[in-house]
Amino acid sequence: MTDAGLATEKPVVEPGGERDLMSKFDALIAERQALIDTGVTDPFAIVMDEVKSPTQAVIKGRETILLGTYNYMGMTFDADVIQAGKDALDQFGSGTNGSRMLNGTFRDHMEVEEALRDFYGVSGAIVFSTGYMANLGMISTLAGKGDYVILDADSHASIYDGCKQGVAEIVRFRHNSVEDLDKRLGRLPAEAGKLVVLEGVYSMLGDIAPLKEMVAVAKKHGAMVLSDEAHSMGFYGPNGRGVYEDMGLEADVDFVVGTFSKSVGTVGGFCVSNHPKFEAIRLACRPYIFTASLPPSVVATAAVSIRKLKTAHEKRARLWDNARTLHGGLKALGFKLGTESPDSAIIAVILDDQEQAVAMWQALLDGGLYVNMARPPATPAGTFLLRCSLCAEHTPEQIRTVLGMFEAAGRAVGVLA
Ligand code: PMP
Repeated sequence: MTDAGLATEKPVVEPGGERDLMSKFDALIAERQALIDTGVTDPFAIVMDEVKSPTQAVIKGRETILLGTYNYMGMTFDADVIQAGKDALDQFGSGTNGSRMLNGTFRDHMEVEEALRDFYGVSGAIVFSTGYMANLGMISTLAGKGDYVILDADSHASIYDGCKQGVAEIVRFRHNSVEDLDKRLGRLPAEAGKLVVLEGVYSMLGDIAPLKEMVAVAKKHGAMVLSDEAHSMGFYGPNGRGVYEDMGLEADVDFVVGTFSKSVGTVGGFCVSNHPKFEAIRLACRPYIFTASLPPSVVATAAVSIRKLKTAHEKRARLWDNARTLHGGLKALGFKLGTESPDSAIIAVILDDQEQAVAMWQALLDGGLYVNMARPPATPAGTFLLRCSLCAEHTPEQIRTVLGMFEAAGRAVGVLA
């Protein structure tokens, strides 16, 4: 996600009157209203009335195929995962009422950190309340005064916000450009502390980073590397650790950030590392210390899910099959896609403008298919996208149905000739 931020306007101040801080949102409110006035469903206010499985929900009274969630491995309805949550609710109650540092560390916070160490084959794991907070906490704590954070221009908002929360100098490089990264690192003082922040899979287009080359460049300049593997956990690499594992970079990536809100199927975030002093993060990291810990049922479900993901080879294979089938099918129909090949479980369909994107999104929803709509500033280079994210639990028949729906909607809206 890029960081163009919200459209802002200077608030009007009446002489002697109060400055209405909410007036800065007038442009946003008007833009939203104009969209709704065209008669479409608001793409950013969808309600799941019922969720039947990782791939099916009821939206506006209609059975809908879900192709726009990050439930890559379909763990949300796994019987063992659900049972672990129920048991934890019974044994530990609904919440922890406190920080990990005080009264908020329960048995299953320890268990999920152990499951993470085991899954990633590392010595250290620290769990945060969300993936957003993991990036916020790790980046702002690792990079201090006089240090540099070097990040991809298309980084997720949580990476940008981690930079803002901290006091380090920020340097951006062109999306996935090894050359630009090299150039910018070369301009920094040799003796300064440097953290290069990368993502295995970039979530808007579903493209992957040339991590091997980027990590080599980072190391050449004496920088440490943090890789956010939110969108690759569970199915990338021999053990499902992520793109960095797939590329054989386990010895070179210093910190891996991840989330429980995607393949793990619940909520929470984490960082894992082999750094011998990694535990010190718990003593200094404000987004770890000054917030309540995850509820016991959440960490219990996460722990079971992560243990099962470790050996979910068959699910992984099904997810990749689905990604290949959908990517190939959409390409054959003539849609413009975010990547040349099926590089991840995210397949982005690129539309010309907002009007076309909304019309297409609405036609799909009316036909019983939910995909994510994305637009600037969340998307790179002003693109309007319909983002499809696949699940291991999508059946071949569902994928065929989805392709039929895309074809029908594409023709109805005029995207396809
Ligand atoms: N990093 C990336 C790359 C993400 O896409 C996201 C969420 N979409 C996050 C971090 C934040 O994860 P969470 O939902 O756990 O806050």
